[in-house]
Amino acid sequence: MGLYANLPFLVLLVCACSLLSSAPLAFVGPAPLPQVAEEAALEAEATEARTSVVLVIFDQLPVSSLMRTTDEIEGELFPNFAKLAAESTWFRNASACYKRTVLALPSILTGNLVEDHSLLPRFQDHPQNLFTLLAGSHRMVVHERITAMCPTELLEGGRPQYGLDSKGAPRADHFRRFVARFDGGPGPTLGFLHVMLPHVPWEFVPSGKKYGTKMLREVGLGAWSKYDALLDLGVQRHLLQLGFVDALLGELIGRMKEVGAYDETLVIITSDHGCSLRGLDRDTPTIERARDLLHVPLFVKLPGQTDGRIVDRNVESIDLLPTIADVLGIEVPWETDGRSAFDEEPARKKKVLHNKGGGSVAVDGTFPEAWPALDHKRTLFGESPTWRDVFQPGQASEELGRPVEEFELGVLEGAQARIANAEAIRAWEGTSTVYPGLLLGSVTVAEGDPAPREVVFAINGVIRGVSQTYAREGSSASFVALISDKDLPAHPQLRLYTRGPEGRLLALESN
Ligand SMILES: [Zn+2]
Repeated sequence: MGLYANLPFLVLLVCACSLLSSAPLAFVGPAPLPQVAEEAALEAEATEARTSVVLVIFDQLPVSSLMRTTDEIEGELFPNFAKLAAESTWFRNASACYKRTVLALPSILTGNLVEDHSLLPRFQDHPQNLFTLLAGSHRMVVHERITAMCPTELLEGGRPQYGLDSKGAPRADHFRRFVARFDGGPGPTLGFLHVMLPHVPWEFVPSGKKYGTKMLREVGLGAWSKYDALLDLGVQRHLLQLGFVDALLGELIGRMKEVGAYDETLVIITSDHGCSLRGLDRDTPTIERARDLLHVPLFVKLPGQTDGRIVDRNVESIDLLPTIADVLGIEVPWETDGRSAFDEEPARKKKVLHNKGGGSVAVDGTFPEAWPALDHKRTLFGESPTWRDVFQPGQASEELGRPVEEFELGVLEGAQARIANAEAIRAWEGTSTVYPGLLLGSVTVAEGDPAPREVVFAINGVIRGVSQTYAREGSSASFVALISDKDLPAHPQLRLYTRGPEGRLLALESN
């Protein structure tokens, strides 16, 4: 009965999802505990579920980013997601109820819409949740990030993984600490992880190296570009980061298999909401954008399941908790807005994206025929992209890897290129986890000459990147390109060229 007494002070990082870096820290004291919390816990003690559950919520992941087509996961770029899809049920018409994490997480963990948007994403405000449901039957391996939905007393060692304890912990470490805690026993386990990946800031490439984003922020390219010409840099960076997320997913599944915890566990991999990577106004849930924000991945691997299935049922985030209860064969001792994804009753006819503070956008609940975000991605990177195509969107990817000697060479007289991180590139030793793969700068030309429209980057004599130039304050020919960490040897010789007549490469003098 005294399970929830003496709750310590909690520190919550309350995050408006798209404003992570500037999110305020709110200090929250212990609230008077509602009687209902203890009742929920008592109910939980009565359950006899023996099935382990792993629920992983990747933050800000639209399902279209993972799709190759509407019925196939992109296996070349995301082999671990593709493998999971091949041995689980892919609810490819799954969607979020909120685009704000602080509302999305409680809706997932309670099975209910959040009626009062002033509630915080913490146990005291949402005492009936997945953790109290399974408190009596499951060992908790819980790594929350910006929520505190699991009572501290239920955590092993009583140490929360959120708030102060995880403040500033790198995101990959947060994920890997969770992975490391899987030891295969004893008894049924609830593994819960919410990780702020592939959420902005976009900084990782698939290997897990970072390219350093400070310079980008300085020129207004922190996340979503304010320059039309550079909108697709965001899609590129998002996909590269997602490549690393795929590797992390592989580490988790590998670890679960290693300790014998994978086959018989109910595994659910999903996201709290998507994001829109098309156009300038990306965060407003208009009808056009709503589906980019709504549609999320949802893979449910039942205990013992080895074959993949695709299901088109209209499933929303509020259905996750009832689905878990359904698979475990237990009753949820409170009313839920959601119901099991495996329910045989007809699904809801609409999907609704609720805005924080009120208002909502409703769309038809059937699996959509049109996927503009997927079409956009395929236009940028091709129908069967490799990582080389993602590093170099557009036709230019065919030039990557070719020696400059294969081209007729010249010099653009009177032009001067300036690379912001030239010194860091020259000094690169090839070992640190942050690599100088971001080539950012501008070209000035002699008065009266036209600004070059393209910059070609050669490293040790081989083309490794091409950038269209764009105009910004103080420079009519700015450039930015990302090169793969695999293409950047120690102490590289970097040379810049622009395109001359008949495909000639004209060298630019640079710092
Ligand atoms: Zn989120």
